[in-house]
Amino acid sequence: MLRCAWCMKKIKENDPVYGLSVKFADGVDYSGSEGRMIHIPLSTRNTSVPMVVTTKESEAKKQGTDGIFALCRGECWKKMKETIAKEITTFEYSKDITQN
Ligand SMILES: [Zn+2]
Repeated sequence: MLRCAWCMKKIKENDPVYGLSVKFADGVDYSGSEGRMIHIPLSTRNTSVPMVVTTKESEAKKQGTDGIFALCRGECWKKMKETIAKEITTFEYSKDITQN
């Protein structure tokens, strides 16, 4: 079961999921957790949030994505994107992977 990385609400199977793809900053390495859900610390929020680490072979990884956040709605997605932009020691950038 996925949880929204912003509000922690459970995302049910048939609910829409908003994906936010991130690239880690230099020196940040979660390759030991490939393909798994981890909790990544966000210093600006003083908490850890769930994120899926992409695997080496995945299409997402080939396109520069190190991890993916799942968000339950557009509002959470937007807030997470703004937060990622501030977490410069952990993330290089984030990008949209959902069209709607
Ligand atoms: Zn949410």
